[in-house]
Amino acid sequence: MKTVLRMEKETRKRKLLIVEDEIINRMMLGRMLSDEYDVLYAENGQKALDIIKNQCETLSIILLDLMMPVMDGYQLLEILSGDKRYKTIPVIVMTSDKSAEIKTLQLGAVDFIPKPYDMPGVIKARIKRSIKLAEESRVLTAVEDDELTGLYNKEFFYQYAGDIDMYHPELNMDTAIINVNRFHLINEQYGHKVGDELLRAIADCLRLVLRKNIGLACRSHSDIFFVYIAHQEDYDYLCRRMTEELGAVSGIPDVSIRVGVYKHCDRSLPLVERIDRAAIACNLCRGSYITTYACYDQELHEKELFAEKLIRDMDKALEQGQFKVYYQPKYNIEGNTPALSSAEALIRWIHPEHGFISPGVFIPLFEENGLIQKLDHFVWNEAAAQITKWKKEFGVSVPISVNVSRVDMFDPNLESKLLKIVENNGITTAELMLEITESAYTGNNKQIIDVVERMQADGFRIEMDDFGSGYSSLNMLSSLPIDILKIDMGFVRRVCESEKDKRMVEIVLEIAKMLDVPVVAEGVETEEQYLLLKKLGCNIIQGYYFSRPEPPEKLVEKISALAK
Ligand code: C2E
Ligand code: CA
Ligand code: CA
Repeated sequence: MKTVLRMEKETRKRKLLIVEDEIINRMMLGRMLSDEYDVLYAENGQKALDIIKNQCETLSIILLDLMMPVMDGYQLLEILSGDKRYKTIPVIVMTSDKSAEIKTLQLGAVDFIPKPYDMPGVIKARIKRSIKLAEESRVLTAVEDDELTGLYNKEFFYQYAGDIDMYHPELNMDTAIINVNRFHLINEQYGHKVGDELLRAIADCLRLVLRKNIGLACRSHSDIFFVYIAHQEDYDYLCRRMTEELGAVSGIPDVSIRVGVYKHCDRSLPLVERIDRAAIACNLCRGSYITTYACYDQELHEKELFAEKLIRDMDKALEQGQFKVYYQPKYNIEGNTPALSSAEALIRWIHPEHGFISPGVFIPLFEENGLIQKLDHFVWNEAAAQITKWKKEFGVSVPISVNVSRVDMFDPNLESKLLKIVENNGITTAELMLEITESAYTGNNKQIIDVVERMQADGFRIEMDDFGSGYSSLNMLSSLPIDILKIDMGFVRRVCESEKDKRMVEIVLEIAKMLDVPVVAEGVETEEQYLLLKKLGCNIIQGYYFSRPEPPEKLVEKISALAK
């Protein structure tokens, strides 16, 4: 792109403006330069300004005499240097007066041509050099700045931060990341103009801090700012001051930011990683409605190392059989006595070094990088094999539900993979139920809904997991392919104590009635909860009250009882 632009420039003549009141001088210069340049003339400052106003975009250089009638060269220089549109056009002053040099330099002139014009070679060379410098610096400033905030862009941030590393190895530096809480809502609610204002205000605050400290800042993208700064003790104070300032400037009363800081950063790490650590800390503040800041510390560091290790270990763990599928029975409570009706497959990792690791720890990690697909495929296969096994051993069919991660939903082969598993294990699609979390449907994603509809048509029963945790709207629900609603454990936990949660359970039951689907309550731990849920009309119950998730061999008694 850059080279194309340059080539275009080189094939046409550059435009040059001569501002000179003496006609002889104009003619002389014009003759000297018109071969190489497209020359324009003005006989005083005012005429020159008229031309500049119209042609500032295409004007490459101005040669300016100082002593002229109407408007002299000093006046014109003053106007040009004060205007953003004009100050990037280089001006060469033509004078025989040495003493004028300092003043014109201060006003932004880039060079001088001594009068009389008796050295054409020198004049041409100076003009050429000034144009080249101005063009290069224009290219630079154009990409160096984030247009909105005037801060550096990310690329230059990394480059200049690298310079700090190189020239100031003795400094103790921090990296920080700043995010605006709920920025998209601010844009929606107050308009993009206010959003932009807010971002500019953040940049102003950062500039203020950086004026007093070695360092630099950039806007990486959207509402995310990176800072590389000589170590600061009191981020709490800085965040508070900044929030006050932002509130005052933007007029948004509850505007808040979240800040992640990696203090005394390890400068042997690539800068990207140092910024990443600030980002990890910043993520801890996610979901907050007030200004919060967090530091990357030893504990976070160890957590990160542990996460990396788990990711590295996964493949080997699968090969070596460290993953085990547990099953938690679900009981139908519609009749007089609860009856085991199905089970949920839940993965466990028995790690040779770290022992029992909860899926709450590794599932989110594997979801981030897609490893979850491999693991889920393993679980689905195990569950399907278990269905066959129990069928063979006890002559009963116990349907098993498996968790399908949101990541799986984007796999174009999801349906065929599941069908293959069903076929290979000699079971029916009705026996393998699919638990899809409510949040997977976020945004009413048509692609996801289509896939689920197809699988439902194949005969898989679809259970909406964690229902009520906050994403679906009622009107969307009726159009979703759902066979069973599984109410979020959070409501069940407090159903006996909290009137609000009890009401939520009742609402879910009403919705289910409207959709004509049964409701599962999971996380049922006490008799009191069980009885209340039964009274409210809940159909199926899963929870420690009846059974914890168990390895299949421990469920033999419960399964064999079904056969009797
Ligand atoms: P989930 O799908 O909502 O699973 C229910 C979780 O509640 C399970 O936790 C289960 O052990 C726990 N639970 C069941 N009854 C009770 C109870 O009475 N009290 C309490 N306090 N907890 C109960 P677990 O096994 O730790 O799994 C956590 C989450 O990890 C699951 O939440 C699911 O989202 C995910 N997960 C587990 N296995 C798999 C898997 O194979 N694939 C995928 N994609 N996700 C899985
Ligand atoms: Ca589940
Ligand atoms: Ca759940």
